[in-house]
Amino acid sequence: MARVITVTLNPALDLAFDLEELTLGTVNRPRNAQLEAAGKGVNVARVLASLGHHVVVSGFLGCDNDGPFQRAFTQLGVTDAFVRVPGETRINAKLAEKSGRVTDINGPGIGVDATQVAALLNSIKQQLNNEPADAILVAGSLPPGLSLTSFATLLTELKATGVPLWVDTSGEALLCAIEAAPEAVKPNELELANWAGEALDNHAKRVSATRRLYQAGIGQALLSAGADGVIWVNAKGTWQSTPPRVQTANTVGAGDTFVAGMLHGVLSQQSDEETLRFATALSAESVRHVGVGNALADDFAVLLQHTQVQRLYASRTEGTSQ
Ligand code: ATP
Ligand code: MG
Ligand code: MG
Repeated sequence: MARVITVTLNPALDLAFDLEELTLGTVNRPRNAQLEAAGKGVNVARVLASLGHHVVVSGFLGCDNDGPFQRAFTQLGVTDAFVRVPGETRINAKLAEKSGRVTDINGPGIGVDATQVAALLNSIKQQLNNEPADAILVAGSLPPGLSLTSFATLLTELKATGVPLWVDTSGEALLCAIEAAPEAVKPNELELANWAGEALDNHAKRVSATRRLYQAGIGQALLSAGADGVIWVNAKGTWQSTPPRVQTANTVGAGDTFVAGMLHGVLSQQSDEETLRFATALSAESVRHVGVGNALADDFAVLLQHTQVQRLYASRTEGTSQ
């Protein structure tokens, strides 16, 4: 089993409300309300831990409300290496209506300064001194106070540890991450459009943009496009996957589940085809319910069977003139 360090720079406590219908300007009474430790790296840690990997969770947490996180980490059996900063971790409200519509109200996040960023880097290096890791994943948005320059420096330092660095972020932070040329990035089609300079609204554009991403120095260039599936370009070639059709209940966490599935396959030395099939099927499983994907679902073998995986080109140079 692999050892993975996940870094969530801007985690959140998710406060999910289950409503019949949201009515603005009045008191709404949810059918159910739930508070959960969240954040992209934390979600990935949930999936990796459920698959038997050893996970160290890191990033920044507010000292004043870290109880739900501590409880979740204990329950998951992951190592808590989060740097504590004064104040409270943000709360993100998720208002889910019976119709399937979801309204998110996301807090800005807790501010961090240069000293705290240095403490984070030291703590990750300490973890690596204790025991080597097979991958470091940095996932999610940046907290207030963390400049793009500091983020770029952090990525460069993490990359310099020699541990394969995976990054899943969006906006300016994604552009910054691509510049740092980590081992892997996994934008969705909207997130990569800015970098690509065009809307990635069809298959050909997605393949072309993902190949350019690989050529920009990303060893594992991964582009996900929801139900339209994934394009993956690496040194061995270009792959495409299409998830099975599933009843969609909640797509939050699909991308995180996909990233975890890819890490699982790659770090377990599975073939590229097996890896992509597993990650795609697992992420499709996740959209059937709230939360991350579950490989122990009764019909997971059926989902795997109905996931289409196709090799488009055998190597990155083949077919480039098309
Ligand atoms: P997140 O919001 O978690 O960051 P994302 O936008 O980064 O997600 P998506 O491309 O939406 O990522 O989803 C990741 C993967 O989840 C897809 O590649 C696909 O395999 C699966 N998936 C997402 N939506 C659906 C769907 N409606 N039906 C089947 N599979 C889906
Ligand atoms: Mg999406
Ligand atoms: Mg995503």
